[in-house]
Amino acid sequence: MDSSSIIRKTAGDLRRVPNFVDYAGERSTFSWPAVRAQFAETGFNIATHAVERHASGALRDKVAFRFLSRDKPARDVSYGELSQLTSRFANVLETLGIGRGERVFVLAGRIPELYVAVLGSLKHGAVVSPLFSAFGPEPIATRVNLGEGRVLVTTDMLYERKVAKWRDRMPTLQHVLLVAEDGGRTDVPGTLDLAVLMAEASDQCTVAATGQEEMSLLHFTSGTTGTPKGAVHVHGAVVTHFATGRYALDLHADDTYWCTADPGWVTGTSYGIIAPLLHGVTSIIDREEFDAERWYSILQDEAVTVWYTAPTAIRMLMKAGAEIPHKYRFPQLRFIASVGEPLNPEAVRWGKEVLGLPIHDNWWQTETGGIMIANTPAFDIKPGSMGRPLPGIDAAIMRHHEDGTVTPIEEPDVEGELALKRGWPSMFRAYLNNEERYRKCFAGEWYLTGDLAKRDADGYFWFVGRADDVIKSAGHLIGPFEVESALMEHPAVAEAGVIGKPDPVVGEVVKAFVSLKKGFEESEALRMELLGHARKKLGAAVAPKEIAFLPSLPRTRSGKIMRRLLKARELGLPEGDTSTLEGGA
Ligand code: AMP
Repeated sequence: MDSSSIIRKTAGDLRRVPNFVDYAGERSTFSWPAVRAQFAETGFNIATHAVERHASGALRDKVAFRFLSRDKPARDVSYGELSQLTSRFANVLETLGIGRGERVFVLAGRIPELYVAVLGSLKHGAVVSPLFSAFGPEPIATRVNLGEGRVLVTTDMLYERKVAKWRDRMPTLQHVLLVAEDGGRTDVPGTLDLAVLMAEASDQCTVAATGQEEMSLLHFTSGTTGTPKGAVHVHGAVVTHFATGRYALDLHADDTYWCTADPGWVTGTSYGIIAPLLHGVTSIIDREEFDAERWYSILQDEAVTVWYTAPTAIRMLMKAGAEIPHKYRFPQLRFIASVGEPLNPEAVRWGKEVLGLPIHDNWWQTETGGIMIANTPAFDIKPGSMGRPLPGIDAAIMRHHEDGTVTPIEEPDVEGELALKRGWPSMFRAYLNNEERYRKCFAGEWYLTGDLAKRDADGYFWFVGRADDVIKSAGHLIGPFEVESALMEHPAVAEAGVIGKPDPVVGEVVKAFVSLKKGFEESEALRMELLGHARKKLGAAVAPKEIAFLPSLPRTRSGKIMRRLLKARELGLPEGDTSTLEGGA
């Protein structure tokens, strides 16, 4: 790359001395056992370090979470109160007979009860799985069943719209704990009123003495085939959350921090709940969806110092125009980071121009549990690059050989699969009940990420694309198979193939191609019906935005739908190797 486009760090970009200034030095002295030793004495339960340590010390009265919503005053929860609320929740689980390792699912918007349920479950030693509230009934039921959920915490509205009618399809689910949202009702048959249970429970409890290898969180992620994969995380991951919060987000105890991610996505848990609490900071949680004016006003009015957001959001802010930010001032804002999709070089520069700070792109995924590669305060930014591996992380670009072996590529600027040397504490420990799929992710000591990337001569990594058909839309991974299956449930659909169609704002939008069964005619009315059918089953976050009819879909000789070919045709790109195409060359 042209060195003039590098964004050099200036005193103005680093409004205080960062935690991380010496990249090579810190990497050479860093050791996971040394960081882990700081945690070992008080055990590895995430809630001990995130909540109890502060609640029983100097930060007892400090605000841990400030919950914002459009039509209610802000609700501040101190570390002390968070300790009491999470103890109450842990005691509720105890009363319901929920044991260590049993699964609690949470389906809610970003309301206080979600955060209390997540941390209270961890405190109790239960395993917690936050689900996107934008999921439809189908993805919810699939995940609850895969995870053998025993408890579901949700709101009256979400229960009525997405769970009640499907409840008998979730046989493991014993208790639904209902939160009355905005004056809603909780006297719903088959559910329990969470507020009543909380009021009856004690606000004191003993934190479960979970070991570092004990399961803590279950996060679902999508593959190209089959059901979603449940990535199993452990309490020992707390060590990575702490270290990366320090290196990649530059968290200091006096920060006001805003992570815009929803806890239904791993970022909203690792960095929307755990890492900021570990550092004893105050977190802003906004319940509302994206709104440019609102977001700038939050940055200003809450005096946010560290902001962690996503490329789609940044592109939406860019699209909203430069006039809005000019009405606001952000003198406290010190550090901006983003994750989830490639961050365009223009977006990095836009940050510098409009917010006065460059945006630090970083890379990780559900399976890694924490940030692995990042632009950090310790070195200049090459816009468009996702940065360099953090201390404790070894990354490589791998070449796949015809004999099935995989070796690191030493030369710079060569494309291959991004891999990480196993051993960092937050690495996923399994795909739930799918040992085979887990094993396939590893080649010896290397974890293969499924992403294609390059490394340049200065050790910066550059994202190239996914090695598979998984779709990234507005930062969310969407498995084409899950969407195809839902479409196939419609009586008119014979076959369905789903691709990600490039989009300037959200990265990719989900587009489906369907062929119809005999006796059905394509029509605009049917297209609308299919869009509605998919949206009802899958929810707005996953459903296709576009559907096109084809007489038949291209398949390999072995019968697999060739999504790659559908995509190439859609984009007018060369069709590549079609030798396996059924009836083809
Ligand atoms: P998820 O597991 O849902 O967090 O998605 C992880 C995937 O998002 C990665 O495997 C990448 O494909 C993509 N991703 C995450 N961060 C970045 C980034 N900074 N640049 C490009 N792609 C990213």
